Amino acid sequence: MTTQAPLESDSRLLAALSQVLDPELATPITEMGMVEQASLAGGIARVHLLLTTEACPMRSTLRQRVIDALSPLEGVERVEVSLGVMSAQQRASLKEKLGYHRKNPFAAEDSLTRVIAVASGKGGVGKSSMTVNLAAALAAAGFSVGVLDADIHGFSVPGLLGIEGGPTRMDEMIIPPLVPAPHGPGCLKVISIGMFVDRQQPVAWRGPMLHRALEQFLTDVHYGQLDFLFLDLPPGTGDIAISMAQLLPQAQILLVTTPQQSALEVAQRAGTLSLQTQQKVLGVLENMGAMLLPDGSSLPLFGAGGGKKLAESLTAALDYEVPLLGSIPLDLALRQAGDAGCPLVWQDPQAPASQALEQVAYQISHRPRGLAGQRLPLAF
Ligand code: ADP
Repeated sequence: MTTQAPLESDSRLLAALSQVLDPELATPITEMGMVEQASLAGGIARVHLLLTTEACPMRSTLRQRVIDALSPLEGVERVEVSLGVMSAQQRASLKEKLGYHRKNPFAAEDSLTRVIAVASGKGGVGKSSMTVNLAAALAAAGFSVGVLDADIHGFSVPGLLGIEGGPTRMDEMIIPPLVPAPHGPGCLKVISIGMFVDRQQPVAWRGPMLHRALEQFLTDVHYGQLDFLFLDLPPGTGDIAISMAQLLPQAQILLVTTPQQSALEVAQRAGTLSLQTQQKVLGVLENMGAMLLPDGSSLPLFGAGGGKKLAESLTAALDYEVPLLGSIPLDLALRQAGDAGCPLVWQDPQAPASQALEQVAYQISHRPRGLAGQRLPLAF
């Protein structure tokens, strides 16, 4: 089909179609060059859409969005949508328009994205739950937020966000699934190692493979303009933490720990790794703090004081202030929301854990960038 100049009568349809966003790129389909033709004759609106790929998983969503946008227009009795696929040249011009250049945009000196790597000394302290909820709270506040799940052995971010499908590929460009905040203008763009491996099989990758995967997530994935990129790192001080430091020297580290004193030493080790990688520790987040009981009392199931103590000892070890950004209570609702695939801060913003998480998200969004944006010489 050749491109046809829109007919006189099409301008109304085009105006309505300019309100239709591509579900993955959150960009108007008219701007993406997806509307090849839109015409109205005899009460029938006919739209020919060009998909980015033949295998586009969003074809029925797109079709429905077009029908919903055009049906209310005066004079439209029926909407017919036909689908085609962009040519290589059309895809190349779309990538150009999107500003996609197959390089790690976050390493650029002028990158405006704040990169926050969420780390913990050991597993099971709620690192992924904290990552997803903080990202979701910032998205609800209107920020554009990316979440990169690099927890190779324990990837859980897709499940915590209820994402079942994977990313779409357009040639070498990977378009991450997009999760809009339900009550806010922002959205999450999510990529996980779990989207590329068989979820039932254990993943046994070695350092170089992990490095390559992380690199690909930073270069090939089109995140668009992000205000924040959260990385969910595997627990401990392994290969990914080192790769992350090489690929994202400006990333700030957010350390998640429990109030338990016995978890301190291992969390401290994860924190002092930043001395070696010359990255900045943004702060400590204590999770699984005292649970609030219905009678108003609180139950410190995992002890108390661990977060404060870790912040103090890292402040001493690193020679700059490492603040305790907050303490998130143990909250049954947080676990249930995660299991249901919806962050608690979206599902129930009034829950005690949501309120505490929102305060931490607020602090993060208002903290200075610190060393972010400065390239530091790294050698491993
Ligand atoms: P990690 O990423 O550190 O391995 P997860 O985020 O997967 O930890 O959390 C481990 C388990 O603990 C999950 O079932 C999660 O729902 C639960 N959990 C985490 N934080 C809390 C909390 N504050 N209250 C209740 N349950 C929590």
